[in-house]
Amino acid sequence: MDYQKLLKKSVVLSPDILLTPNGVKKEWAVEFVGTKIKAVGPRSDFKDIIALPNKAIIPGFVDAHTHVGQIFGKALIGGEPAQIWRRIWHPMERDMDEKQSYLSAKWAFWEALRGGFTKVVNYGLNGIDKNEGVHRAAVETGIRLVSACGLDEFSGEIGTGHGNKSWSEIEEVVLAHIDHCASLKNISPSVCCSSFMGNTPETLFRLSELCKKHSIILQIHSNEHFPEVHECILRHGLRPIELLYKHAVLGPHVLLHHTSLVSEPEIELIIETDTATSYNPLASMWKGNAVAPALRFAQRGVRFGMGSDTTSADGFKNLMAAEACQRIEHGLPVADFSCGAAWTWVDAATSQGASATGGTGDHGQLAPGLAADYLILDMMAPECLPSHDFEWELVRYYNRDQIDAVIIDGQICMEHGRPVLWDTEELRQAAMSVARTITSAPGIKRCHGSSEMYRP
Ligand SMILES: [Zn+2]
Repeated sequence: MDYQKLLKKSVVLSPDILLTPNGVKKEWAVEFVGTKIKAVGPRSDFKDIIALPNKAIIPGFVDAHTHVGQIFGKALIGGEPAQIWRRIWHPMERDMDEKQSYLSAKWAFWEALRGGFTKVVNYGLNGIDKNEGVHRAAVETGIRLVSACGLDEFSGEIGTGHGNKSWSEIEEVVLAHIDHCASLKNISPSVCCSSFMGNTPETLFRLSELCKKHSIILQIHSNEHFPEVHECILRHGLRPIELLYKHAVLGPHVLLHHTSLVSEPEIELIIETDTATSYNPLASMWKGNAVAPALRFAQRGVRFGMGSDTTSADGFKNLMAAEACQRIEHGLPVADFSCGAAWTWVDAATSQGASATGGTGDHGQLAPGLAADYLILDMMAPECLPSHDFEWELVRYYNRDQIDAVIIDGQICMEHGRPVLWDTEELRQAAMSVARTITSAPGIKRCHGSSEMYRP
């Protein structure tokens, strides 16, 4: 099927299955006009329908947490102990220039689109220079982006050498970032900080107030690793989320990443303040030391999306990991065989993810008035037949090969795994030599070494 020809400015599509905010619908249709969804309903409500037999349409996946500056280092982490950011990511990303940021981001968006992600939330300590590159890549690929602006260097505790800027200097950087994003389609600004490790409680409070005032997301890595929790208790006598709560940092505009080592009282603080979190199951499996209690989050109404955290940018692999981690960690010990009943994870990867990352009312669902961000899936692969329960099948049997088309804001960005807006060979050639330079940056320390070293 030639989707580029099929998907006109105004089109009514009726696949076998439509995944709506109220679940799976058969014999329904969705009308797209320009960048938006105009109507969704039973087939009989529409005229001039284009039937899509053996296809499903679902909302695009949202990657609620990733680092587009780390993509070339993704295969360095096998066997590495946790806190990889200290030994690999920080030295690798620190000195990247505009061109390197551009190539890294475009590569990351390429992988993301192939994996069905229509929106990516980038975390990075980026200034305007790096963001010029990241934004150029986002515009060229058509992906929806929450853009990062970094602040740890202001208080200097991470050791970047900049250190201790005044509040007015910090504010200036944030306002410049907001300004920079204002004219760019589908790019919204955010502020990134690594909690108390790089900032004083006073700075965190002011950052939160500033983000709230400008209705932008404040991204904070929180309660991810043992040393962080331990250090917070030693320094402040409180666990990280307790500290953020005490200083009025939390709120609906705050997105906490990981929250894997979270206590029951801390979950209560997240609920009380309507703070959002990102659940990163592949990151837990590959480089963390705990799995977030996402099933309990879902049962208690915590808003959470799902993040790849630069592991694998395959939306289906993340879905499978999300369910599997909860099953092993929380389902099996109490014989909870339902364990979120599939739809919990599908929602977290789509509508909930959009909500947790500032997209409420704008995108993330197949609903009238929202942006036309969606995937067309092929339902005919043997792995997915015979079909009995589509949402379980999404979680367990689908993979990126079944993504026929990725559409963002009404524009087709990827067809059968190939971008339609730009040339992949050109990027591959430009990126690979630069990638070697980036992944051999001074200061990178790999503890584990290659798997070959461990053969007996
Ligand atoms: Zn991260």
